[in-house]
Amino acid sequence: MIELDNKIHFNYNDIHYLIKTNYKCVTDFNPDIILAIGSGGLIPARILKTFINKPIYVISVKAYDDNQNLRNVEIIQWLSDNLENKKVLIVDEVDDTRTTLQFCIDKLQKQNKLNEYGIFVIHNKQKEKVYELQSDVFYHACSSVNDDWIVYPWDNY
Ligand code: 5GP
Repeated sequence: MIELDNKIHFNYNDIHYLIKTNYKCVTDFNPDIILAIGSGGLIPARILKTFINKPIYVISVKAYDDNQNLRNVEIIQWLSDNLENKKVLIVDEVDDTRTTLQFCIDKLQKQNKLNEYGIFVIHNKQKEKVYELQSDVFYHACSSVNDDWIVYPWDNY
């Protein structure tokens, strides 16, 4: 990991190491499936699968800031599966404002009958979130970081 121009740069080895040293936290939650939030959650989900060996489902969304600097989420592709009887581990690369996670959880609950879920992210930015998770929801961030921009290896290599 290096800091450059007020950004934190991680390479593939950093990300792999973070997941390899954190995946055991998921053991007790013991999900039936991994649900990757694309695109940022795709590579983390794939690395996690190496260690916990659960099938990966995928949704794809795009987070963007509008003219009032409010974060919006656009759907690129969604699932048609019913998740009612599945324990789902939602994986993304970074929990920033939490808008994306909130949007995805709300929609998965409404559209896919998501019932039992947990969250696994590589980085949690230490800042105020737009959404408070219920206290009984499994949540694991491999690392907590300051509110700086993170450059992932798939963004810049
Ligand atoms: P949130 O919805 O939690 O505010 O932001 C989550 C999404 O915004 C992430 O899935 C990611 O696509 C993007 N994002 C937020 N902060 C960063 C960052 O520091 N670096 C990168 N590469 N993406 C970020």
